[in-house]
Amino acid sequence: MVLKVLGSGSSGNCYILENANEALIIEAGVPFKEVKIALDFNISKIAGVVTSHSHGDHSKYIKEFAKAGMNVFIPSDLLETSAEIGNFAGTLTHQMRIPLRSNFTIIPFEVVHDVECYGFLISHPDMGRLLFCTDTSYIAYRFKNLNHILAEANYSNRIMEAAGQDYVKRNHVLSGHMEIGTACEFLKVNNNTGLRNVVLLHLSANNADPEQFISDVENVVNCPVYVANKGLEINLDLCPF
Ligand SMILES: [Zn+2]
Repeated sequence: MVLKVLGSGSSGNCYILENANEALIIEAGVPFKEVKIALDFNISKIAGVVTSHSHGDHSKYIKEFAKAGMNVFIPSDLLETSAEIGNFAGTLTHQMRIPLRSNFTIIPFEVVHDVECYGFLISHPDMGRLLFCTDTSYIAYRFKNLNHILAEANYSNRIMEAAGQDYVKRNHVLSGHMEIGTACEFLKVNNNTGLRNVVLLHLSANNADPEQFISDVENVVNCPVYVANKGLEINLDLCPF
């Protein structure tokens, strides 16, 4: 199983989990055409498309995916505002099991953002248990035996303070996003001997320091840590050889 990052951040989010026969698309913040190219036009392997929330950087292109006949799962508020995709899409609810005919098992869980928003616990025999979570200021749940964690690390209080950002503006820009210290706390409590990869998502262009964030996280986990730059590919197989 390979993770492919097609975009991560306010300019558009999209992640693909792909093996030889199946693919799962997480977030529809880039045009469907880019997904087709990333899959070498083998779109019949797409088991489904899940979207965490209605903000454009995560869902702007969801209609393209739905109209192409993909199995699309979206929050109910997004369905309400996009009546024309209603015929194609299913809605997410907390701790449902998303009905997909594939080897992916996907459980959404609700997180705190300024709109209805979900993280996903995704299992597959090739890669084990993967947690995906973005656009929330904190995650209140603890997860057992995670093999891969893809979590937001949006900004650093230190960087913002050093730049003299005033509190009101900070609050407006950052509410609903995860600070690196909060991300580290979350990763620390979910660290375990089976954890293989940590990928930091949705870094702010101005208020994040990718190298510093990686070293902060390396202090709390015992596995490789990556920043989800566009074009990143990582092997997630439990048995890579
Ligand atoms: Zn958002």
